[in-house]
Amino acid sequence: MIESLEGKRGVPRNRPPFPVTQGYLNKPTVVNNVETFALAARIAVYGGDGFAALGTKQSKGTKLLSISGDCLRPGIYEFPFGVSVREVLEACNAQDTQAVQISGAAGTCLSAKEFDRKIAFEDVATGGSVMIFNRQRDLLEVVRNFAHFFVHESCGFCTPCRVGTSLLKNLVEKVYTNHGTADDLKDMSYISQVLKTASHCGLGQTASNHIADTLKKFPEIYHKRLLVEANFEPAFDLDSALEDARQITGRKDEMAYL
Ligand code: SF4
Repeated sequence: MIESLEGKRGVPRNRPPFPVTQGYLNKPTVVNNVETFALAARIAVYGGDGFAALGTKQSKGTKLLSISGDCLRPGIYEFPFGVSVREVLEACNAQDTQAVQISGAAGTCLSAKEFDRKIAFEDVATGGSVMIFNRQRDLLEVVRNFAHFFVHESCGFCTPCRVGTSLLKNLVEKVYTNHGTADDLKDMSYISQVLKTASHCGLGQTASNHIADTLKKFPEIYHKRLLVEANFEPAFDLDSALEDARQITGRKDEMAYL
């Protein structure tokens, strides 16, 4: 954001230095969201003790949640930290919930077994986004949307994220269209891990969370679409891919064919 404000291409800066010492035009800069300022105002009015009386030991106060998806009462809710996912679902009248995506596409996908987990820094930390998917949803379609989203969002600065998000999108697409095999699922796990550990910034490091989470917690959404009769199906036709090169170079000799 600060790079963009300075008229440069919006790629992440190396840190340190942090914006608080060298931010916009190398001056100390505060980058906070509106929720933080709103809570600071409340603390100024009511005092720190009143604020700290709400929430949990490590997560004081309240949290704004932006709830969307399959529920009767979507909207912005304020809960004390420590509220369970189940209580959140009850408050917004969500029925027959299959999965809850916390913190947006880059966040955590919770299965029904985890609905007693708490919204708090010590358990399920969140920026505030809660997406609810009921059992009528095709969860792999959700994964597919997220995978396309990250290809678009990757700024292209570093290879693991630029290439990895595209590879993952292609593999999800392959499984979604019933051409995937067990090997493709292994590749997805491996590439997810590479993104997590080798990407330059938080976007790439979290861009495969939805795939890693759903592979682990909802393996059936992948397995039911796999090709059962094949261990491997190529992702593309190599011979037709070579045809362009043969045309450009004018080669027709035996070595130019597979
Ligand atoms: S991880 Fe992705 S978004 Fe971040 S710098 Fe690398 S390419 Fe850009």
